[in-house]
Amino acid sequence: MPEETIGFIGLGIMGGPMAANLLRAGYPLVVHNRTRAKEEALVSDGAEAAGSLGEVASRSEIVITMLPDSPDVEQVYLGEGGVIEGAKEGQLLIDMSSIAPAVARAVAEAARQAGADALDAPVSGGDVGAREGTLSIMVGGADDAFKRAQPLFDVLGKTVVHVGEAGAGQTAKACNQILVAVTIEAVSEALVLASKAGVDPERLIEVLSGGLAGNKVMEVRRRNFLKHDFSPGFRLQLHHKDLGIALRTARELGVYVPTTAIVDQMLAALEAAGDGGLDHSALLKVIEEASGHRI
Ligand code: NAP
Repeated sequence: MPEETIGFIGLGIMGGPMAANLLRAGYPLVVHNRTRAKEEALVSDGAEAAGSLGEVASRSEIVITMLPDSPDVEQVYLGEGGVIEGAKEGQLLIDMSSIAPAVARAVAEAARQAGADALDAPVSGGDVGAREGTLSIMVGGADDAFKRAQPLFDVLGKTVVHVGEAGAGQTAKACNQILVAVTIEAVSEALVLASKAGVDPERLIEVLSGGLAGNKVMEVRRRNFLKHDFSPGFRLQLHHKDLGIALRTARELGVYVPTTAIVDQMLAALEAAGDGGLDHSALLKVIEEASGHRI
């Protein structure tokens, strides 16, 4: 039976079901969310609510955060009344949000100064993976901290890899987001070209899925493309944020990522048009509109 109390901050689309899985696995759980109403379902299942970030830190041995973006993570950890201020010697702080590697390294350094350990452990697998406990988890940080966290990562995910030192998990996540965005864009180009040439998009997906062009985006988002159903899923606003992280990281390192830059601009156009809340498969709309053809 797990004994370490987990404090969980950020109970949104991902954090809510992840926290529920930990509770189900028997971890004592203290939860907190900015909009307090999101704590209620977990509390009725046996979690305890904490009124502030500091209270989460003082009542738990391990803190997990699942927040939208780098500024949120900076505020929650490094801000006044934040997690670092309340951190204890020997505590383990795990941020599972998708954020800039540089911010992950800053949090790890602040944790070290407070006598705590930190891991960056962003995920892929979406809301379905969060609910089913089948996420891919890419982890950056020290070896012993990873070993301590492994049992709870095994509750949350199916593929768990320690990829390197602090920030390495976030670098892996940025790479993941490049691949997913570029694949969605490429599938969109193929679907519009086929359809405008008179080839049925559904049959195209069927035949291409069996060869080298087969991919998970085409499998998992098949219905979204074919039915123009762009309800999220993964909001394209968040994917635009992630490509921003990839582009900044590439610039820092002097890495050439031209296709990422183009797809980033497509997401920017969709967001500017008010479509930021749609699923990222709505990239199809950009190709359709520029081609004067709806599949
Ligand atoms: P989300 O639904 O917006 O959830 C974020 C939660 O954090 C919200 O409940 C928000 O509270 C809470 N929060 C924000 N600032 C806070 C603060 N200062 N104190 C306490 N709580 C705070 O986002 P999500 O979809 O779960 O995504 C979370 C992270 O996972 C993002 O970095 C995203 O890129 C990544 N991710 C998402 C997916 C996906 O499919 N959704 C997949 C992989 C990775 P409010 O209720 O007040 O807004």
